[in-house]
Amino acid sequence: MNYDAMFQSALDGLHADGSYRYFAELERRAGDFPKAFHHGIGREVTVWCSNDYLGMGQHAEVLAAMHKALAETGAGAGGTRNISGTNHYHVALEKELASLHGKESALLFNSGYLSNWVTLGTIAARLKGCVVLSDASNHASMIEGIRHSRAEKQIFRHNDVEDLERRLKEIPADVPKIIAFESVYSMDGDIAPIEAFCDLADKYGAMTYLDEVHAVGMYGEHGAGIAEKLGLSHRLTVIEGTLGKGYGVVGGYIAASAPLCDFVRSFGSGFIFSTALPPMIAAGALASVRYLKRSQKERDGQQRAVAYMREALDRAGIPHVQNDSHIVPVMVGEADLCRALSDELLTRFGHYLQPINYPTVARGTERLRLTPTPLHTNEDIDEMVVALSTLWQERQLKRSVAA
Ligand code: PMP
Repeated sequence: MNYDAMFQSALDGLHADGSYRYFAELERRAGDFPKAFHHGIGREVTVWCSNDYLGMGQHAEVLAAMHKALAETGAGAGGTRNISGTNHYHVALEKELASLHGKESALLFNSGYLSNWVTLGTIAARLKGCVVLSDASNHASMIEGIRHSRAEKQIFRHNDVEDLERRLKEIPADVPKIIAFESVYSMDGDIAPIEAFCDLADKYGAMTYLDEVHAVGMYGEHGAGIAEKLGLSHRLTVIEGTLGKGYGVVGGYIAASAPLCDFVRSFGSGFIFSTALPPMIAAGALASVRYLKRSQKERDGQQRAVAYMREALDRAGIPHVQNDSHIVPVMVGEADLCRALSDELLTRFGHYLQPINYPTVARGTERLRLTPTPLHTNEDIDEMVVALSTLWQERQLKRSVAA
């Protein structure tokens, strides 16, 4: 058997349908973000697709906390959480996250992906007869967790309150139910009708599971996300977040009741049997969470940059999706064109922006997804919009009506 030939033939399929993923070697240099060194083209570039949404990955307080913890505790955690791997930084971070979201308890995971996969997988598998109602646009980590649980899953239309209610009505009252959804959806930047979903959860006795991965650090008075901004944190059964995007480090978590967190901690094999995050990571994340709890500067700066970019795109007639978040999708609608635009932005103009193609988004909705941060200056934004405008002009692409 030629196994490599089998692997290669699957990869050829990805190349053929334009969905093969490229991995640019990008040198992030602390202090220079959003500039980075791109090894492929051998020059400095401006990064437009980083999920280090607020630039906290280079924040002085975060770096200092990590240096200090590294010197104190060494490199790794030394074990799984229950076998010698729990350090006081893990405990302090869990307390901080619980209090941030107004919950009794929190539980750390090695990534946001794992927090979704383990929590949904464990609850849905262990609560007998559980039915999961999952938004059609949910992230792969939720989808995989639900699949792993082997529980019954119903996919409701994206952000559709009526479709969700129609399904809830059909499920017997005594059956455990979870409504799983996100607050800010990462590809369109649209926001879920959280309050209406919570109302339905109350009416039909369901739990609510909210992924705030693209919102924590960035929304709400203390950076606790959209639920905090809308005053709804107390109505959600589980709030899940990442420490790798707005908070700039790595790791994931859930915040919920003490019994729920203890349940996942006690039954979730993906939590139990995996080496804990290094204490220095927990220390860095803790510093980032605490800092963003009190500082509005980064959130304000992000909103400023996003508003400035949207206005500049409107003036140039570059079509982009309107939403109430920091995610600015520029619609292209064709995979090859999307990749070509991204290549030209990089090689001619020094802007690094990965194309978003199928299967991340549906065919025909390929796009360039811009995430301006507080560290992008107006000049950076002007340069990017001029580059886009030049490409739109040269390729005679459709402009938006505002132009
Ligand atoms: N949920 C959503 C909605 C995401 O977009 C992502 C990551 N892109 C995750 C969860 C996983 O988070 P992490 O990157 O921390 O694993």
